[in-house]
Amino acid sequence: MTPPRFFALIPAAGAGARMGAECPKQYMPLAGKLMLMHVLDTFAFSPKIAHTFVVVSAEDGYIEEALSGAKHLDDRVTVIFEGGATRHQSVLNGLMAMRDQVADGDWVLVHDAARPGLTDGLIDRLIEAVQSDEVGGLLALPVVDTLKRGDAEGRVQATVARDSLWAAQTPQMFRYALLRRALEQAREVTDEASAIEALGLRPKLVEGSPRNFKVTLPHDVALAELHLKGDA
Ligand code: C5P
Repeated sequence: MTPPRFFALIPAAGAGARMGAECPKQYMPLAGKLMLMHVLDTFAFSPKIAHTFVVVSAEDGYIEEALSGAKHLDDRVTVIFEGGATRHQSVLNGLMAMRDQVADGDWVLVHDAARPGLTDGLIDRLIEAVQSDEVGGLLALPVVDTLKRGDAEGRVQATVARDSLWAAQTPQMFRYALLRRALEQAREVTDEASAIEALGLRPKLVEGSPRNFKVTLPHDVALAELHLKGDA
């Protein structure tokens, strides 16, 4: 039996409305390179990753130009122009489009285009920890802040015990067939692990890194650049 391979799937079909930028946030320049290109390069340079698929919206007007300046990605990245209305739908569309190139038992690492701080070392850590797992797993960070649940008036309703709470990151890594079944059956979810959990399974938590945060608001840009420039 051939050993399972590792594929990356990058949902990059969001509008990034909270960023308030002119273009979708995955196409913002960060430390001299578009946000999405940081992510594609990280996977392309990782020797463990067999191939990367990126899902963009059908009307995407940026990806072709971005890739035309990145010949080293020609054999490493396939673009799928089938973004959905939600991240969940974009990932599912990507899984369907990659069907012919992936076996049921191959691993798929789903990673947000909006997390440019991912490193080769974090990919290795996740694969190392999860590749012999029955279910799969994800990068996540133990919560360090004290958490408050707020009410409609912006007042504290309750303090939520933070013991054993983790903030989910990506990549989230599951075998192709299980992930597809989970996302097909789940109601709207904001990450892959939630869909797997809805099947009654318990994904493995693997410690991620603060630098792998999701760039969401305008003030996140400077911090992301700080990390990325530090790598250069
Ligand atoms: O909006 P948010 O930052 O949560 O999006 C997380 C990731 O999902 C981003 O990489 C974004 O481009 C992607 N996404 C998508 N299709 C959507 C919405 C978001 O691929 N409809």
